[in-house]
Amino acid sequence: MKIKNTLSGKLEEFVPLSDTVGIYVCGLTVYDRIHLGHLRSFIPFDLIVRYLRKKGYKVKYVRNFTDIDDKIIDRAKREGISPFDIAEKYIKFFEEDIKPFELLKPDFEPRVTDHIPEIINLIEKIIENSRAYVSDGDVYFDVEKFPDYGKLSKMSKENMLSGARVEISEKKKNPLDFALWKARKEDIEPAWRAPWGEGRPGWHIECSAMSMKYLGETFDIHGGGQDLIFPHHENEIAQSESATGKQFVRYWLHTGYLTIAGEKMSKSLGNVLQVPELIRQYHPEVIKFFILKAHYRSPVEFSSELIRSDEKTLINFYYTIEFEVERLGIRSLEGVKPSSQALSKFEDALDDDFNTPEAISTVFSFFDELKKSGSRDKFLEFLSFLSYVHDILGIFGKIPVLSGKSFIEEEVMRRCSVKKVSYEQLCKLVEKRDELRRQGKYREADEIRKKLLEIGIYIQDTVLGARKIPA
Ligand SMILES: [Zn+2]
Repeated sequence: MKIKNTLSGKLEEFVPLSDTVGIYVCGLTVYDRIHLGHLRSFIPFDLIVRYLRKKGYKVKYVRNFTDIDDKIIDRAKREGISPFDIAEKYIKFFEEDIKPFELLKPDFEPRVTDHIPEIINLIEKIIENSRAYVSDGDVYFDVEKFPDYGKLSKMSKENMLSGARVEISEKKKNPLDFALWKARKEDIEPAWRAPWGEGRPGWHIECSAMSMKYLGETFDIHGGGQDLIFPHHENEIAQSESATGKQFVRYWLHTGYLTIAGEKMSKSLGNVLQVPELIRQYHPEVIKFFILKAHYRSPVEFSSELIRSDEKTLINFYYTIEFEVERLGIRSLEGVKPSSQALSKFEDALDDDFNTPEAISTVFSFFDELKKSGSRDKFLEFLSFLSYVHDILGIFGKIPVLSGKSFIEEEVMRRCSVKKVSYEQLCKLVEKRDELRRQGKYREADEIRKKLLEIGIYIQDTVLGARKIPA
């Protein structure tokens, strides 16, 4: 298996340190609801963990919560509650928001405020090794003392300085130095006692402390969004390697940007699509499909036209399969092996730096072949293949014979609930339409058809009866 490593900039053979792969993904700063940009990072890492496990590796998967930060403190001031309550509140929202996407729960979800002693310990080591200095209650990392600074981002010092996230402070020796510890300034700021005075950790140090606690001083994979390469991950390397004298992370993986009309999704631009609104508009699997269709490293451009077209593709796919399963009377897949040809193409794609667009196109090309061949045995093999695909991508498995779930039915119900129509009301409308047609009252039946279309549901009359399809 080959993985593109941001550190070397090359495609490298993946050789883990041991049979247990350690993976740390930078999680969420909990001060607001999550949006599509977060999913753009969390969904690919879910696939990566699933695939590594499918390949037989044991995987220790860690994703943190940043529960103390300037943004949390600002939010606390605005909402008039404590920063701890803000963090608690938005962790609960996160859990609610992420649930419909059916992602794996990490093995550890450490919070910064539960790891203050580990953080203080790590800062002490860095100071002992003369790579950090205390300045008026703050502690700064001394970038000049770490000659490898910039090895991940490969940025020149000039470019680093012009970066938006370099904080200006008179307490620093060098403008690129970054805070490991921040002295308390206001009463509302939570603070802990440390050898340098009361304060709280700087942002970057938490990920070094928590990743090394759960995965060891050197571990296999560290991931996050591309925007974290500099300064966050560059700083994680500098402080971790300064503390231990060892390589920190072996493979760095970064997910590409998500843009809307060419612009990054951000609050200041007012183009943030938060999850509650997103899932009102689209089935969670449509969103996953939209994201996984792009390579994890590629930029993804979002538009409602693009995602609607993916929705259509998914509806056609599922509808055709469900119809065939019923028409052929397939009730179980016991003893059916997945098509080996499809399987090996699919795995080849994922072995090549988790190439999901290629893996997904394998699914569709076998699906197209199947439609031409019409063979029942091949269809069974395809269904069994989909079950395997679903274990890894977390999509294409909502077919009753595979999982007891139906994408089509879920989508019909989702549309009903958005339009505040109950499923019973919908079924009654369909029955009434059937009745009117039997009586030859086509004009009235057509009125009902139009009504159903307003809910977003199309009625198809088939040899198996009237079927409800998301229009
Ligand atoms: Zn981090």
